[in-house]
Amino acid sequence: MHFSYVTLFPNLISSYFEDSILKRALDKKLLTIDFYNPRDFTANKHHKVDDTQASGGAGMVLFPQPLYDTLEVIKKEHPNTYIIFPVPAGKPFRQIDAKRLAQKEYLVFVCGRYEGIDERVIETYADELFSIGDYVLTGGELPSLVMSDAISRNVDGVLGNSESLSMESFENIVLEAPCFSKPPIYENKSIPSEFLKGNHAKITSLKNKMSEMKTQYFRPDLFSRFKAKH
Ligand code: SAM
Repeated sequence: MHFSYVTLFPNLISSYFEDSILKRALDKKLLTIDFYNPRDFTANKHHKVDDTQASGGAGMVLFPQPLYDTLEVIKKEHPNTYIIFPVPAGKPFRQIDAKRLAQKEYLVFVCGRYEGIDERVIETYADELFSIGDYVLTGGELPSLVMSDAISRNVDGVLGNSESLSMESFENIVLEAPCFSKPPIYENKSIPSEFLKGNHAKITSLKNKMSEMKTQYFRPDLFSRFKAKH
């Protein structure tokens, strides 16, 4: 799986890959990443990438030329690209999207800044638009990282134990059951006694029950969807 990031601030993204699971995935070549800075593709001598709004009003917009030229180069170098624009107007990014996009070979994330990207760039190049929530961030780098992280976990070999994926929140609509570790009693708080008895069928059944209760409590919207399906 390859991720290309089109960004004015590559360091914001590269630092996230310097530790933990994603670093190991890069070391093992399960993931590869690279960066394209639109400032390197400008046709003006001051390397300007933003301009005032055609409509008037506050804020600068990333104008088309540097982004068109950047994306043309990427498409030429890699014919099988799938181009994602993180934007507040996009559809909500979900686990099901992370799983689906993990099957692609080459994803490109185009990070907006300032008031955003000239709409003509999005119309011309976007394969998909995603939002990571109903709030506005300063740039597309964090949303791109959020999506890349969630996608990477679904790439074969990235997680040490792929079983952990199958029981996770959102896999079967519901949230994962609460997790406990050791010791069995800590500060007078004990874990469910069934977990200590070693009967795996009973443990699974209890976990399923807890998972449903947790979903009903924290995410009634998901619980309704789950109930409609089961
Ligand atoms: N003026 C835009 C609006 O009101 O919709 C917001 C632009 S935002 C300040 C700059 C960039 O951050 C966007 O182009 C996008 O790439 C990214 N961004 C901000 N919030 C986001 C969100 N909730 N989901 C995905 N991307 C977001």
